[in-house]
Amino acid sequence: MKPETLLYPTPKGLYCEKGGFYIDPVQPVERALVTHGHADHARAGHTHVLATRETLDIMRIRYGDAFCVSAQEAVLGARTAIGDVSVSFHPAGHVLGSAQIAVEAGGTRIVVSGDYKRRRDPTCLSFEPVVCDVFITEATFGLPVFHHPDDRGEIAKLLTSLRQFPERTHLVGAYALGKAQRVIALLREAGYDEPIFIHGALTKLCDYYESEGIDLGDIRPATLDTKDKQSFAGAVVIGPPSAFADKWARRFPDPVSIFASGWMLVRQRAKQRGVELPMIISDHCDWPELTGTIGEIGPGEVWVTHGREEALVRWCELQGIAARPLHLVGYDDEGE
Ligand SMILES: [Zn+2]
Repeated sequence: MKPETLLYPTPKGLYCEKGGFYIDPVQPVERALVTHGHADHARAGHTHVLATRETLDIMRIRYGDAFCVSAQEAVLGARTAIGDVSVSFHPAGHVLGSAQIAVEAGGTRIVVSGDYKRRRDPTCLSFEPVVCDVFITEATFGLPVFHHPDDRGEIAKLLTSLRQFPERTHLVGAYALGKAQRVIALLREAGYDEPIFIHGALTKLCDYYESEGIDLGDIRPATLDTKDKQSFAGAVVIGPPSAFADKWARRFPDPVSIFASGWMLVRQRAKQRGVELPMIISDHCDWPELTGTIGEIGPGEVWVTHGREEALVRWCELQGIAARPLHLVGYDDEGE
C-alpha cells in the first residue's frame, strides 16, 4: 500500500481513511488516536479516543471525565486492529505516557513519532526506535544550531545560584505537564532535598506523577501569605510560565527569574522574557537527536510535521532519504 494513501494530512490532522481515524486531531472527530497529553495534541471533544493509560488519565485530569464519549487504553507494544489497519503504541520519551503510533496496512508501516526526545528522562520511558517505511517526525528544534546541553549541567546552574543568592526566591517557569516534574526529579537526582514549592496549576499533575511512582520528594503548595513573605527566601518555587506575568510571581522576595525550556538556547528569547537564569532543558529532540534517530531507524521516507521542516527535509535528501514537509497546523511547541 502506498504510504500517502494510508495516512495523509488534512486540516483536522493526520488522517487514516482505511481505519477512519485521526492522529492528534486539532478539531473534534469521531475517532482519535492521541500520542500524548500536551494540550495541542490531546484535545477534548472527540467521540472515541485511543491512547496510553497515562495519556487518558492526563486528559481526564485536564478536561474532566467527559473529555470524550469512550476511551480505550492502548497497551505499549500491543497491536490493535481498527478495520483493516493495525496500530501499535511505542514509548516516545517526551512526557509520562507519551507514545509513537505505528500504523500498518498492506505491508506498509508508518510511524508517527508525536513529540519525542532521545535523552534520558527520569519521569518517562525512553524512546524506542521502531523499524518503518515512513517515519513521521516533528522538527521543533530542526536546525543545526540547536544542540541542547546535558540537563545535569543546567540543574547545576540552578544549584549554584541557590548557594550564591540564599536570600532570593528561585522562581522557575516550567510547563505543567512533563517539564515541571522533570525539573523536580532532576533536582532530586542532583541531591537537592529541600522542600520544593509549586504553583496550584501544577498540583494535580505532580500528584499524578507521584501516584505513578515518580518520586518528586517534599512538594509543597506555594501559597503565599503576604505576612510571611520571607519563608520563600532561598527556596525553589516552580510555576507555569503563564503565572510569571501575574501578581503571583511579584510577591516573592527579590526573585531570580528562571525558565526551563529548549528555547533558552536562544539568548534573545531569554532576554525578551526577562529571564535571569535560562535553563536549557527540552522535551524535544535537538538537531543531533533528530538526525541521529533518522539514521538509526533508516526509514525509506521521512515526513516532517511541524517546526523547522525545511532544514530537516534538506538533510534527509542529502542522505539519500526521500523527505517532505507536511505543514501540519495547530501544534505549538513554543513553550517546550
Ligand atoms: Zn508535547
